[in-house]
Amino acid sequence: MSVEVVVLLCCDYHMHTFRCGDASGTYEEYVAKALEQGLKEIGFSGHSPQYFLPKDMRRRESAIPEEELELYVREVETLREKYEGSIVIRLGLEVDFVPGHDKELEKLVFSYPWDYLLLSVHYLNDWPFDHPKYIARYSEWDINELFATYYQVLRRGIETGFFDAVAHLDLPKKFGFRPTREIPELEEVLTSCVKYGVAVELNTAGWRRPAQEAYPSLSILQRARDFGLSVCVGSDAHRPEEVGRYFKEAEEFLRKAGFTSVIRFVQRKKIPVLLEGNPLCE
Ligand SMILES: [Zn+2]
Ligand SMILES: [Zn+2]
Repeated sequence: MSVEVVVLLCCDYHMHTFRCGDASGTYEEYVAKALEQGLKEIGFSGHSPQYFLPKDMRRRESAIPEEELELYVREVETLREKYEGSIVIRLGLEVDFVPGHDKELEKLVFSYPWDYLLLSVHYLNDWPFDHPKYIARYSEWDINELFATYYQVLRRGIETGFFDAVAHLDLPKKFGFRPTREIPELEEVLTSCVKYGVAVELNTAGWRRPAQEAYPSLSILQRARDFGLSVCVGSDAHRPEEVGRYFKEAEEFLRKAGFTSVIRFVQRKKIPVLLEGNPLCE
């Protein structure tokens, strides 16, 4: 007997493809999975070129090379036309933020007609702290200090005014390391989100990591709600089969946190969609 899967969250805004180096699968495979999952709208969010590294240190296996960015944009736009009428496809970019490179960042932001830009901090100085290969370096840190430093960098990213949403907001918990006290810098991040009109992403990938919990945690999501922030949802799929994964859990998470709507992105504008009676899902 087949069971009908009802998916109320219909937009997945965090997806990578082979073009990103660290993900696999063609665009078409991601779209096919999204259609199978009943999604009505998706956004590709390729990893930005590593503008913050000297050219000879940029790695093909972790980001879209600068010389392929235009190709990426064209690929997504072609796909959008091809699937018009069956699924809406948005053009996004997951931008690594590293302080001190605002000129390069600005060029990236204004060179293409993005629907949205996700702000991500994956690096603390030269340490890609979410990469399993460098997990040993957590031992060099006091974990509370690590979170505080991470949130300070994140806040600086928000305050550039270049971004639409913060991706995986509490990413340093990825391998299970968690703060043991309140981190005041988190409040500053949320305050900056309010000031700069930046949304928070509910990223379901945390449920498939050692952290075993979405990014951000329920308590942070509740605080984001208290701050009046809006929320978008993404699976951070690096393989086609991960598209829309844990979206039922995400919906429950959002409701527990008190959210009644999520947002869609259209040409850098946020459009709220009610969770209940979501017209995208009818
Ligand atoms: Zn990321
Ligand atoms: Zn990602």
